[in-house]
Amino acid sequence: MITTFEHNPDLRSQVGEIASILRQSDHTVAMTGAGMSVESGIPPFSGTDGLWTKYGTPPMDGYSRFRKDPIGWWNRRTNEKIDAHIMELRDALKNARPHAGHFALAGMVQIGALNSVITQNIDGLDEKAGVDKLFEIHGNRQKLRCVDCNDRVLLADVVPLFAPDPCGVCGGLVKFDTVMFGEPIPEDVMRSARAEIDRADCVIAIGTSATVRPASGLLWIAKAAGATMIEINPSETKLTSLCELSLRSTAGLALPALLEALTDT
Ligand SMILES: [Zn+2]
Repeated sequence: MITTFEHNPDLRSQVGEIASILRQSDHTVAMTGAGMSVESGIPPFSGTDGLWTKYGTPPMDGYSRFRKDPIGWWNRRTNEKIDAHIMELRDALKNARPHAGHFALAGMVQIGALNSVITQNIDGLDEKAGVDKLFEIHGNRQKLRCVDCNDRVLLADVVPLFAPDPCGVCGGLVKFDTVMFGEPIPEDVMRSARAEIDRADCVIAIGTSATVRPASGLLWIAKAAGATMIEINPSETKLTSLCELSLRSTAGLALPALLEALTDT
C-alpha cells in the first residue's frame, strides 16, 4: 500500500538517504520504465492490464515486415484494420500529460543532481516536462525517424495518414521513431545511453521491471562496473537484489520528495 511521504517516516528517511547518495555521486543516471507512464494514464504493454495481454502480442518480426513493404504497412496503419492495441495506445498518448514525477526529474537535471535520463518509454512525456539530457532508447511516438541517417522530425499531435516522404536529409526510408519488434535500437541513442552508463557511479531505476533487453542489460553493466544502484518501484523486481536501496513508492510521490530533499539546505 502506497502512502504519502508526510505520514511515513521510513519513506522520508529513505528519500533522505537517496539524496545523500546523489550528493556524493559524480555522475548519476536515471533509467525509467513503464511505471512512469502508467501514472500518466498510459497502459503498459505487458502485465495483467497490459495491451498485449488484452489484445495479443504483435508479430515479433514487425520490423522486417515493415522493411519489406513500407507502403503496405502505412496503409494498414491508417485504415480500419488498425490494431486495437494501437488505437487504445494512440488515444491514451493523445490525452497523457506529464505527472509530478516527470517534472521532478526535469528539476533534478536542472540542479545538477542528475546527469541524464534514459527512458524506455515512447510517450515523450519526459521531453514535455522539460527533461534535459534525455535518451529515448525505444523512440518517441510523436516523432518520425529515418532508418538510414536517424534524422528525426517532430509530428505535433497529428498522425500521418499516408507513408511519409523519403528523408529530407538523405532520401532514406522514414518510419515512426518508436522501435519495432526486431528493430535494433537506433545506433546514435544506444551509443549515447551506453556512454552515460559507462560514466555513471550511481544509477536510479524508476518504474522499470528491468526485463526488456537491451535496456535492462545497461543496468547490469552499471552494476558490474561498480555503480551504486537505487530502485524506486512500488513492487519488488529482478533488480531489487542488486540495489543498495529500494524505495517502495510510485515515481509521482517519490521523485518530488527527492527533489525537495535535494534542494533542502
Ligand atoms: Zn536520412
